[in-house]
Parts: sequence; structure tokens; C-alpha cells
Amino acid sequence: MPADIAQAIDDAARTIRGSHYVVALVGAGLSAESGIPTFRGPEGLWTKHGEPDLRDYDRFQEDPAKWWEMRISRASQFPELVEALNTAIPNEGHFALKDMEDEGVLRHIITQNIDNLHQIAGSRAITEIHGNRTKLRCIECSSRWPMDEFPMDELPPHCPECGGIVKGDTVMFGEPIPRDALNECIEQTRQCDCMLLVGTSAVVYPAAGFPMEVKQMGGTLIEVNPNETPLTQYVDVVLRAPAGEALPRVVERIRGDSA
Ligand SMILES: [Zn+2]
Repeated sequence: MPADIAQAIDDAARTIRGSHYVVALVGAGLSAESGIPTFRGPEGLWTKHGEPDLRDYDRFQEDPAKWWEMRISRASQFPELVEALNTAIPNEGHFALKDMEDEGVLRHIITQNIDNLHQIAGSRAITEIHGNRTKLRCIECSSRWPMDEFPMDELPPHCPECGGIVKGDTVMFGEPIPRDALNECIEQTRQCDCMLLVGTSAVVYPAAGFPMEVKQMGGTLIEVNPNETPLTQYVDVVLRAPAGEALPRVVERIRGDSA
């Protein structure tokens, strides 16, 4: 690893140690390190297969039963994505974030990923802005259930708590971010004085607003990304490397300092 990365790892570890409330904002780059294809970028699914249908959620609301029937019967538009999601396992970056939580230096993960890999890695304090592909959610009261534990005896399924219509937890195009998740992100960002930006270019709102808010409140930003992003100009420490390489080194350094 080049010398400037080694220096950045020292800087990142020191900054994290010296902060009161560290939050990680995680994006598709971390999942990509586990082999999950991304949507954006030159190799992205949208680039290769065309833009998504932005009226997804409208269609769901117009006829939820039909949407469920199609979901159950029809093959995915992106079979390679489904295959990758079904076989993906957490990478060293996921485990490093779990280790940081165990060390008491990372308070929360706000993730834009839906793949459940943070949970599999063992992280506990997680907010999923775009939902979780292994869960279902009531569109009225935001109750959530593991998909394989929910009785599918009618289409569309209804919420046992409030009678609302149940859909996959993954947020669709045109669907608002679930209120409880958004509120949690706002609360976490309000407390945060150091945000780790892991594999995200944060160009999509609401995630895009969180780092800028931390910065405006006098906090610090640490970018962990092999590529430059629109946020790079605002960050205090740049780790220009994949999370799976850089974050375990940061954890090592944090542990070394506290030993
Ligand atoms: Zn409900």
C-alpha cells in the first residue's frame, strides 16, 4: 500500500478516536466489493440494460394484487443481480464496520444497500434507507417482517397490525423513503460529528444531504472509496482504496492506539 494511504489510515484512525459520535454512510461500492453489480457507472446494470421504470411505485399502488402476481410469476429484469444477491457474502469492509461497532467507536450505519450483508456480518445499529430485500413492509404503519415468515395466503397480503397493504421492503422508484428510516437518519446525522463515507458518491437524495449537514455543523468527513466522488472536495481524510482493504487497517490502528 502506498505511503500516502498509510498516512491517511493514521489520520482516519485518529479522527475516529477523537470523535464523539461516528456514523458510517454506506453505498453500492461496498456491495460491489462482494460481487453485487451496481446500477450506475460504465458497468452498471442501467447502462447495460436501459433505465429503470420510474413509475414502479405508481403501478404498485394502482393494482397491488397484480403487482404481487407479477412478482411471484415473472423472472427478474436483472437475473444477474438476483443471482449475485442470492450468493453474496460480506467482505472485509463489512466486517471492519462490525469490528468498529464492537470497539465502541462506530455508533450507527446508514446504508443505501438492500442486500442484508451488514446484518450477516454482525452489525447491529443499522438504518436501511432503501429497505432490505429479505423483508416485507406495511406501507401504512411500516411494520416489517422476514419475507419467509409472512403468510402469503392472499394477494396483496395485508398487515396483521393495521390492515394496510404489504409490499417488499425494498424501496421502489417513485416510492417515498419510509418515514421511520428517514427520521432515524435525520436523528443519527444530527448527533454525528464524524461521518465515514464508504463506497458512496452520495449523489442520490436523501443520502446526499447527510454529509453536508455534518460538515456544516463543524464535523469531519472521511471518504473510503477507490474513486473520486462529488464529495471528495469536502472531505477531511481520503482513503483512496477499496473498503475491504482500507477499513481493516483502520480498525487495526484504532485497536493499537487503545491497547
Ligand atoms: Zn400496518
